[in-house]
Order: sequence, then C-alpha cells, then structure tokens
Amino acid sequence: MTIPTKLLARKVELHNLINKYNYLYYTTDNPEVSDSEYDRLFRELKQLEADHPALLTLDSPTQRVGGQVLDKFDQVTHAMSMLSLDNVFDDNEFLAFDQRVKDWLNTGDVQSYIAEPKLDGLAISLRYEKGLLVQAATRGDGSVGEDVTVNVRTISDIPLTLQGDVIPDVIEIRGEIFMPKAGFEALNQQQILEGKKSFVNPRNAAAGSLRQLDSKITASRPLEMICYGLGEIKGLAEMPETHSAAMAMVADLGCRISPELQAVSGVEACLVYIEQIGERRDNLPYDIDGVVFKVDNLQLQQRLGFVSRAPRWAIAHKFPAQQEITTVEDIEIQVGRTGALTPVARLKPVFVGGVTVSNATLHNQDEIDRKDVRVGDTVIVRRAGDVIPEVVQVVLSKRPEQAEPYRIPAQCPICDSLAERVEGEAVLRCTGGLYCPAQRKEAIKHFASRKAMDVDGLGDKIVEQLVDEGLIGDPADLFALTIAQLAALERMGDKSAENLVTALDAAKQTKFARFIYSLGIRGVGEATARSLAMDFLTLDLLKGADEAALIEIEDVGPVVAHNIVTFFNQDHNQHVVDRLLMAGLTWPLEEKMSADSALSGKIIVLTGTLEQLSRSEAKEKLLALGAKVAGSVSKKTDYVVVGRDAGSKLTKAEILGVTVVDETTLIEWIR
Ligand code: NAD
Repeated sequence: MTIPTKLLARKVELHNLINKYNYLYYTTDNPEVSDSEYDRLFRELKQLEADHPALLTLDSPTQRVGGQVLDKFDQVTHAMSMLSLDNVFDDNEFLAFDQRVKDWLNTGDVQSYIAEPKLDGLAISLRYEKGLLVQAATRGDGSVGEDVTVNVRTISDIPLTLQGDVIPDVIEIRGEIFMPKAGFEALNQQQILEGKKSFVNPRNAAAGSLRQLDSKITASRPLEMICYGLGEIKGLAEMPETHSAAMAMVADLGCRISPELQAVSGVEACLVYIEQIGERRDNLPYDIDGVVFKVDNLQLQQRLGFVSRAPRWAIAHKFPAQQEITTVEDIEIQVGRTGALTPVARLKPVFVGGVTVSNATLHNQDEIDRKDVRVGDTVIVRRAGDVIPEVVQVVLSKRPEQAEPYRIPAQCPICDSLAERVEGEAVLRCTGGLYCPAQRKEAIKHFASRKAMDVDGLGDKIVEQLVDEGLIGDPADLFALTIAQLAALERMGDKSAENLVTALDAAKQTKFARFIYSLGIRGVGEATARSLAMDFLTLDLLKGADEAALIEIEDVGPVVAHNIVTFFNQDHNQHVVDRLLMAGLTWPLEEKMSADSALSGKIIVLTGTLEQLSRSEAKEKLLALGAKVAGSVSKKTDYVVVGRDAGSKLTKAEILGVTVVDETTLIEWIR
C-alpha cells in the first residue's frame, strides 16, 4: 500500500522538529518549546508510525534516546544502556499499560509495582569500583554519555565511597540529579542580581549546572541526587530479586533513595498513589512531572525486556504540564488600589498547571526589560501550584520582525495623571490618588478611616457600594449624600442612613493634621501630617510650600516632599480639596491665631534635657505660639533652646552664630 505524500511529508517534518527540539533540550539545555508541545509531537509521530508501520524507520526519534553528547566532555560508553521511559497521560492509558504487562507475561495475576515520583532533573549513572566512585556519566544518547565525574564529585549527596559490608566489585547506581525548588529560586535571584540570564525551570538549571567545564560552578549550585535504579553489577554474591530489594541495597550502600518509594499492588493502588502524590506535588521540595511505576520482580522485568528506547516493565504517568508555550497578544497596564501600575501580558489562552491561563503579570519595567517581552512574542509561561502564572522566557527565534521593545506609559491609563517611579521602588505609581477611578475606593476608605476624618458608620462595605452604585466618585461627594440615597443601600435602614448623614456632618469639624492625613498623599502618615500641620498652620501655606521648605520639616524626606508638591500641583486633586472646603470642612483656628505672637514664624530647635516640661510639651506650646520647631540646626534657625547635657546641636549653633537660650527663657516665652 502506498503512503500518501502528505503523511510522508508530515513524518519528515516531525522527525526534523523533534530532532531539533531534542538537540536544544538535551544538548544545549535551552528548550524552545514546552514539554507538552514536545510530547504532542512525539505522540503524533508514534501514532503515525502505529497506523502506518511503513513510516517507521530506524532513524525515527521514537526509536532513540534523546540526547547527543557534547564534544567538550569525554565520552563514556555505558556498560548497560540508559533508557528512557514510555509515558501515559491519563488513568485509562495507565490501565492499558497494566493490561499490556499482563498480556506480555501471559498472566492474569495482579501486578506488584514500585512507585515513586518522577523527578524532573537529568539521569546520571554513578560507577563504583571496589566501593570507590570512579565515573559519573550523563545518559547522552543512551549508549554513550558525557563524563561528568569531576562535577558530580562536588555534590554532597553523592558518596565518594560506598558504605557497608557487602560491596560489589562493580556497581552502577543510577538516578536523577535535580535542583530543589528553593535552591532554584535562590539561584535565579542571584543570576538576576549579577545581570545574568535566569533559568527557565529547575530541570534546565540542574542540567546547565552539571554540564559545566568548571567544576567550581557546579559546586556552587544547589544540586542533589536521588537514586532509582541499577546498571552493571559485578562480584555480588547474592543478587536482589526485586526492584525494592535492589533499592534497599542502594540505600544500605549509602546512596539516597526516594522517601516516597512505595510498593503498590494492582492498578487501584497505583491510581491512589498517583492521586496522593499529585495532591502533594506543589508541597514537595523538588519539581516532579509524574509518577514512575516499575514491575517489582526483576525476573519479570527481564522477561518483559524493552522496545527501542524504553523498557516494557516501567511507565511514567505524567502530570499536567506546568510550563506551556503561547503568544503575547497585548500588554496592558492595570492600576492597583494603591496606584501601582502593573503591566500584564494578555496571552493567547493556554492550558497550563491545570487551568486555562490568559494573563500573566510582567511585574514592572525592570522585569520587562530583563526578559525583553514584546507584544507578538512567543513565550514560555509557567504556572506551578497556586503561584500566579509568569512569563519565564521569550522564544527569540519566533519573534515577529516588527515587534518593538515595550515601555510602560508615563501616564496612568485610567485617569491620565502622571505616573512616577519612586526612588528605591521598582513600580510606577499613578499620582492621581484622590481622583483616579482605580484608586477611588481605597482613597475614600482611607479618607473616612478612624485616624483620618473618622466618619462613624462609614465602613469599607458601604464605601464599595456607594462607588459601585455611582453615588460617589471622590471624598467630597460623601458630604452631598442624602438620607434617602443612603437608606436605599443594602442592609441600611432609615435610622442608620440618618446616623451616617449626622456622622458626616460631625466629621466636617476636624483638625488640620487629620485633614492632611486624609488626603492619602503617598508617604504622608499620621505623624508626618501632624508635623506638616504644626509647621505650616494653614492649607494655603502648605500648598504653597516648595520641596526645599518641606524638607525642613521633621519626618519629611525628599521623596515625601516631592509627593506633596506633586499632589497639590495636580488640578484634579486641587479640585477635590476645594470641593471639600466648600462642603464645609473646617478645623479650629487656634494654630492660626498664634500668627500674631512674637515667636510667629521663628524656627526653634530644642536640644538637651529640659527640667520643667517634656520635650513634646515644649514643642506643642511653641507651635501654638506660631513658632516652627525643627529637628536640626541650620543657618535659618532663629533660636536653639538648650537643656542639660546639650551636645552637637549646641556646638553647631555656636559655630553658625545662632542665638542660644536656656530653659528659663523658654518658660518666659510660653508664659
Ligand atoms: P522522560 O523524562 O519522559 O523519562 C525518562 C527519564 O525519567 C529518565 O531518563 C530519568 O532521567 C527520569 N526519571 C525521573 N525519575 C525517575 C524514576 N523514579 N525512575 C526512573 N526514571 C526516572 O524521558 P526523556 O527521554 O528523558 O525525555 C523525554 C521528555 O523530555 C519529554 O516527554 C519531554 O517532557 C522532555 N523533552 C522536552 C523537550 C523540549 O524541547 N521541551 C525536548 C526533549 C524532551
């Protein structure tokens, strides 16, 4: 029967693609497609070959173990091949595997398997002669691997000398070298700090760390090994009869085996094991991509043998992939409740980590620059456990020609206010706090909160309802609310509505410091608001202050000074403030009255211990007299009041020629 040309062409295409991806994955540790994409192609090819046996040729990737060895390493010919594993992706496929095992063995008996997690790292064979580690090799193409002995010696999990009384002349112990999740995170953070490329996932990090010419690099990486099998054995008086006995022997020799290793009899027990490990997957300290089942009886293993690249006596039940490939359709800016501008990649929906993902946060401009994510890019997306999906890497070879580097706009996309990057912070923030719809709810909640305007009965839920119903857009709107409007809200009776209107009315009589705090200017907390109120006394003076004047105030550094100036420079903030005043907000004028006193406007510094009153009492009284109390002495200081044990401030006052007075003078002033 002739094979349609279309199928022949697809076969060639699949060969080429899989060979290319094998090379990138195994040889360069730099995959270009996700494992699930690779698995799909691989399965398609297997199906094609099963449906049309004439398409199955010896050069097919389905007949070979993936990797090629790198020239930079010496080659090691494995005494016994290092095989791959066949995969199943659901319970039915697993049941079919169990049935195949029974069919091959020509038995209806319940099978005993050994189950353990499928670690996501790279396979290694350790060769011990007379108990000494003489060689460590990667799997390579299954027959020939790379000699990585020097590097492997640096991994503390791996014994250089076997322990115990029964040590075979030769024993090859095989297992997986991997990087635990915590080590992987730490390594990537370090790479980023050093301006180096981060690793896509722990598997690539492990492979990249082990396949180094400089063993010092390997030694610095958090690698571990768990053993799961044996290769060549010579000179052992009594060979184990089961895989579990072999693993117990490996443990006795001092090698680490999986603590999850478990004997399971029959398919139901296997399915329970898969479920249980699946549930614990996110909490295990290392990445796993499935569960491996092996027929326990070694004689039966031998009878079953292997086909081309994988044994017939083992199977990997794979879990849903945690990494996928998709494209970035757009990058949008989300404005958070506190004004942070977060770029979010809108992705072509993709099923990853058990859910459909269509967005991934790009965090901030630094992150975008580091990964160079652009609209139109093909990207690797990772979603492991409950962690929010993230773009881990751009597949540069698939970048469209016209793709432009992305920059977060300098304006808030919601309210058009200026977006600023605060020194020391990675995020850009919208400066339209009082006005920006995205920040509305938070701004109003803050305004009404206890330490701000303290509006009794105006809880968060009510603010949310009022904003959602479109009844208020900013804090000033609160004061126009009617009893009827409030009474119509959920869970709000006439009486509560009336009380709330009364509370709003009462809140209009406030303090200047509370008013400043209620505006929600970034960095202006309660204490700063108090200092500002005491120093500037009036709103007009505060609004008119420049950064230099603001920095003079206790608690106010350059960043906060800048925030205050920016806040009052924005027309829409000004508008809200004006409306608040028009609504009747007012505060006692006692501070303002003091403008007539002899100390009005004088800058005074207190230093040393005062005998008759506390420092804060003195400060309050001076402020009431219209003086400004500063924290440090400068040329602008009018008086320095010295108490007992005055130190450097007194010295500085003398150097600068500032008038120095004692506590008695202070008491006189106050009187
Ligand atoms: P595999 O990873 O599916 O299974 C075999 C390997 O599993 C063994 O060699 C061993 O290293 C490992 N393993 C982990 N725990 C084990 C345990 N307890 N017992 C036995 N073995 C255990 O097969 P493979 O041939 O190494 O790789 C194929 C897979 O690699 C693909 O399914 C795909 O996920 C991935 N891959 C991805 C790309 C890509 O471009 N993204 C390319 C090639 C391969």
